Amino acid sequence: ATPVSILVGTGRAAEMGVLFRRGDALQRLSEARWVAFDKTGTLTEGAPRVTDLILADGWTETEALTLAAGAEARSEHPLAAAVVARAREAGLTPPRARKVTATPGRGLSAEVAGKAVLIGNARALDEAGIATAPLAAAAADLAAAGRTPVWLAVAGEAVALMGLADPERAGAAETVAGLRKRGLGVAMVTGDLRATAEVVAGRLGIARVVAEALPEDKLAALEALRAEGTLAFVGDGINDAPALAAADVGIAPGGGTDVAIEAAEVVLMQDDPRGVLRAVALSRAVMRNIR
Ligand code: ADP
Ligand code: MG
Repeated sequence: ATPVSILVGTGRAAEMGVLFRRGDALQRLSEARWVAFDKTGTLTEGAPRVTDLILADGWTETEALTLAAGAEARSEHPLAAAVVARAREAGLTPPRARKVTATPGRGLSAEVAGKAVLIGNARALDEAGIATAPLAAAAADLAAAGRTPVWLAVAGEAVALMGLADPERAGAAETVAGLRKRGLGVAMVTGDLRATAEVVAGRLGIARVVAEALPEDKLAALEALRAEGTLAFVGDGINDAPALAAADVGIAPGGGTDVAIEAAEVVLMQDDPRGVLRAVALSRAVMRNIR
């Protein structure tokens, strides 16, 4: 490709809301065999809501939400924001948590109103030796509906279970279908529960799912895809930066965090997954004209 034709191509792309920050990304994207997407915030809206609250015997919604929100007020996770919002909607003021420890890919523990609180996924409870049995069937139902189960344990006992829903973005399914039509493989990468992730992937038409992945697992999974062909990765979060850098082409949606945008070579000016499809189509059109 000549420098001039690349320049013209990137200029046209910019007019269409796709910013190629490096000319060679245009060529690499045109050669992509795989597009892997971060789930939360990229394929979904990334602003989950608490849709279900299931209590163990003897617990009230007020007690459970107060302790849960006290701990989650100290976390920056999107799931945490949903729990705090739910408590505030119920007119509750989360008490100030102490001794807060976040565990990546699991959740966090804290002391809230003098009680030992653990909030997070089943893995977090398992690792703390806390039985999930009484509410496990309800958790499976939530996951089967595509919701993320969030557990609350107090003083070593599971006392509540919440279901959090994060709707797919408009245009996400259309984007997956369009990429597949163009012969690309599409994968979804997430730290979320496998059962939940599979339901969301099913709705979007994605067959390859990497779920329950810790940050290092995500990178290993992307390396495995890369071994099968040129890989583009689409992600919006601070925690997506390593994956954006590791992929052959990193793509960040316009609404992404500064860290993601910094790490990406392609930036979409709109916060719309269809921009990925447009970027791929454009890169191919430019490279076709050049050859
Ligand atoms: P991703 O960014 O792909 O969602 P994370 O590593 O951030 O992956 O989270 C993985 C899982 O860990 C979440 O789906 C959730 O089950 C659990 N988790 C992490 N942080 C929290 C939190 N603050 N509150 C509740 N659950 C959490
Ligand atoms: Mg994300």
